[in-house]
Amino acid sequence: MTRPAHVVAVDLGGTTIKAARYGAHGIAEETLRLPTPVPKGPDAVTAAVIKAATVLIRPGVRPVGRCAPGLIDTDAGIIRFASNLGLRDTPLAAAAADAVRLPVTLEHDVRAACLAERQHGLGAGLSDLLVVVLGTGLAAGIVSNGRLTRGGTGTAGEFGHIPVHADGELCACGQRGCVEAYTAAGALVRRYRPHRQQRGHRRRHHREPGHRPCRRPRLGRGDRRPRPGTGHLDPPARSPTHRPGGRNDSGRRPPRRACPQEPATRAGLADRTSRGDLPLGADAGLLGAALHAATAMDAAPAKVS
Ligand SMILES: [Zn+2]
Repeated sequence: MTRPAHVVAVDLGGTTIKAARYGAHGIAEETLRLPTPVPKGPDAVTAAVIKAATVLIRPGVRPVGRCAPGLIDTDAGIIRFASNLGLRDTPLAAAAADAVRLPVTLEHDVRAACLAERQHGLGAGLSDLLVVVLGTGLAAGIVSNGRLTRGGTGTAGEFGHIPVHADGELCACGQRGCVEAYTAAGALVRRYRPHRQQRGHRRRHHREPGHRPCRRPRLGRGDRRPRPGTGHLDPPARSPTHRPGGRNDSGRRPPRRACPQEPATRAGLADRTSRGDLPLGADAGLLGAALHAATAMDAAPAKVS
């Protein structure tokens, strides 16, 4: 099965629920967008997802594919934890199957996007692919040796909640200093605004006669205090003479020591890396959810809940 046939797909995002009905040739026949009612609680979110599918279901549709962010138990169809949705141990697939009376599958949203890109987008024909999606959250989808990787606990690619700053900014998951708290879309906008406002202020202020130099805006709490013991995101080991701001005892900034393999690594990655919008656009997760549902039906129709 390479294309979804008569499948309704729903992509549950932190701010928007996207849904589409795909026809026999994998073309979206009808689409729908709803705001995600996160402030109204888990039951409202679940009801909105079911509503989005119900509106698009027509005779001949089978099955329904869903995708969502967070820790997803694909086999059980359960959202174990999705901090941006306020959901914990939510049996989304079973609840939806009861409501729409159709087989329903559940996949991680970025893994679904990776699946779609692997089959019909950027990674078509590749056996190894990494897709990083920056949205309300931050996660990656991994195809290794031609297979979508979910990991032993189904959390492969969920790197957004690795803490990188001790006592850093509070993340939606409850931890402090997560990667996502600094680099997800909302975090970038939140942190960019003060800089932009300050820049505008400096432009206006510097035109005034007798102005005094302005200080640069401060970064957030914990920004310069990387946390040790966080795997591959560890900062370089500090020397005993390290001082805040990267200066040593003499007050000078030590020269940056480049990794000897860095030039070769950069050169090797440059022609294999694509930045910006994915070919399938923001609907890659939606198409991937449809593909996942159709593939699951083909593989084991009786097992799809
Ligand atoms: Zn977090």
